[in-house]
Amino acid sequence: MTTIRIGPLEIPVEYADLGPGVFGKWHPFPSPRIEINDKAPEPMQALALLHECIHALCDLHGIRANEQTVSTLEMVLAQFMRDNPSVFASV
Ligand SMILES: [Zn+2]
Repeated sequence: MTTIRIGPLEIPVEYADLGPGVFGKWHPFPSPRIEINDKAPEPMQALALLHECIHALCDLHGIRANEQTVSTLEMVLAQFMRDNPSVFASV
């Protein structure tokens, strides 16, 4: 199972059919977890994982971010990570 580590938490990432039009979900309660729609095309699954991780990072660090802000950060970070892969190899 894939997990994402945020602070002291190991957050499970579960892949399942979430229905049409839903790429992913962040569930802070009762136990933090992320769901990704395994029926979505693979690039969309990767973007959805980034999107839900941004939700999780914001929630768990007390950062207020509305849906528009999270969506904008998703695209900005995806492009930055794709354009600068060597930066992340050494982090
Ligand atoms: Zn969202």
